Amino acid sequence: MDHPLKMLDVAGVAVSPHHYIDGHRVASTGSFELHCPIDQRLLGHVDEGGGAEVDAAIRASQRAFPAWSALSAAERKPFLDRFAAEIGKRADAFCLLESNDAGVLLSRMRHGVVPRAMLNITWFAEHALTLQDRPIHTEQAHHIVRHDPAGVVVVITPWNSPLLLSTWKLGPALAAGNTCILKPPEWAPLTCSLLADAADAAGLPPGVFNVVQGSGAHTGARLVSDPRIARVSFTGSVPTAKWIAQAAGANLVPCSLELGGKSPFIVLDDADLDNAAATGALMYRNAGQVCLAGTRFLVHERVAERFIAAMRGHVERLNVGDPREEATEVGPIIHPRQVERVLGYIDRAVAGGARVLWGGQRHPFGAQYVQPTMLTDLRQDAEIVQNEVFGPVLTLQTFGSDDEAIALANGTDYGLGGVCYGETAHATAVAERVRTGFIWVNSFGIRDLAAPFGGIKRSGIGREGGDWSFEFFCDVKDVVVPKKPFRASFSQR
Ligand code: NAD
Repeated sequence: MDHPLKMLDVAGVAVSPHHYIDGHRVASTGSFELHCPIDQRLLGHVDEGGGAEVDAAIRASQRAFPAWSALSAAERKPFLDRFAAEIGKRADAFCLLESNDAGVLLSRMRHGVVPRAMLNITWFAEHALTLQDRPIHTEQAHHIVRHDPAGVVVVITPWNSPLLLSTWKLGPALAAGNTCILKPPEWAPLTCSLLADAADAAGLPPGVFNVVQGSGAHTGARLVSDPRIARVSFTGSVPTAKWIAQAAGANLVPCSLELGGKSPFIVLDDADLDNAAATGALMYRNAGQVCLAGTRFLVHERVAERFIAAMRGHVERLNVGDPREEATEVGPIIHPRQVERVLGYIDRAVAGGARVLWGGQRHPFGAQYVQPTMLTDLRQDAEIVQNEVFGPVLTLQTFGSDDEAIALANGTDYGLGGVCYGETAHATAVAERVRTGFIWVNSFGIRDLAAPFGGIKRSGIGREGGDWSFEFFCDVKDVVVPKKPFRASFSQR
């Protein structure tokens, strides 16, 4: 049965609450409520996909795959360049939507996220031109090593940066010749819906890019369990990743898993303390809902007091407020449930003997705001040292030697990233011994599309970025052509 189509009006932007399947908007009976994290107002009802929508999207992607994958990278590039251009034409709308449904700073959307989303598409479209057959010549044979697109790719992203994280996966997946189904986060789905408008306006063939909305348990679980899919590219939490790995694993479908972090922020005794403290305050960006933030401060005991004073100064100047205002630096937490989770972590840590250096409570700006918080006097096995909070809550421990700093840095189950401040050669040497997927020396957040990104231990499996994205989204095939006429023989090796 066809259901009537409608549009939502969110902050003056018209956005579809429906799925996008096979080049059309598709409505379904089920829906979920979407609320604004800034003031809790109802933004609208968004469709929830079930078995029928999942099946339709997979069939559409399968139908589109032969023609899309048969194009050369050079032939796909104009489609993707137009896709990026259509994102650019809707820049204001993307900014307003993600500010309103995810609470991301409008200024960050405008200057960081939207340009990066466009680059995620154009950079991989360009880089795919390097995906040439690789010849290997041996005594026996010519090998033609091909990177063939894998098939139907399911992309699942979290709410803390839906546009950026979705395009970071879609760019390489599409450029390599796959067809895609995006399952947006249910707490912040609107920019993913607008992405479908951009793809449609760019003339991407029907079925090449689809969006099926809904919750993880209802919609996402159906997508990742389906044996017709070729890859799952997931960013989100560890418990969800374990579930997805099992569901996809039942069909031997490869997964790329970008997960949480509890990254160390190391301050050595020869660090530029004010610089380190200014960077430290950045860890409250997006209200701390950033996987790659350095959330465990490990500070040399000789400089701890001075560092704390310097960072306190930077934190006191942070502008907490409405993310739609230009001057705001720290916005809301995505959902009331997440606020309770964050406050619960603080309460239990304090009950266990932690000392609050600053913050520690709900912020007066609004119900979904928590004060930028720093806790200290913590043992390494404390819950808040070991677990990702995903809110504006940091911890601080001190150390007396490099070995001790490294032992503390490596002393959790996570291994996503890290930050290390100190004299450059010293900080680099320490950084090299920290067991994570990446680490920034005297800096933070430098992300080059050509470089590998991802975590070790519980922080994930696989790498994204540059050639690593293509390795995941492609099937490597060796076409072997013997140099001499081949004669069948049982004695052959
Ligand atoms: P989440 O795991 O709850 O949800 C992520 C996505 O998975 C959502 O779209 C959700 O609907 C979907 N999902 C949930 N259950 C599912 C299931 N059974 N099958 C299929 N899909 C399912 O994570 P979240 O709370 O939305 O995001 C926060 C987490 O994401 C944090 O742990 C954070 O560190 C992590 N994260 C990691 C990175 C990275 O690159 N490493 C980046 C951003 C966020």
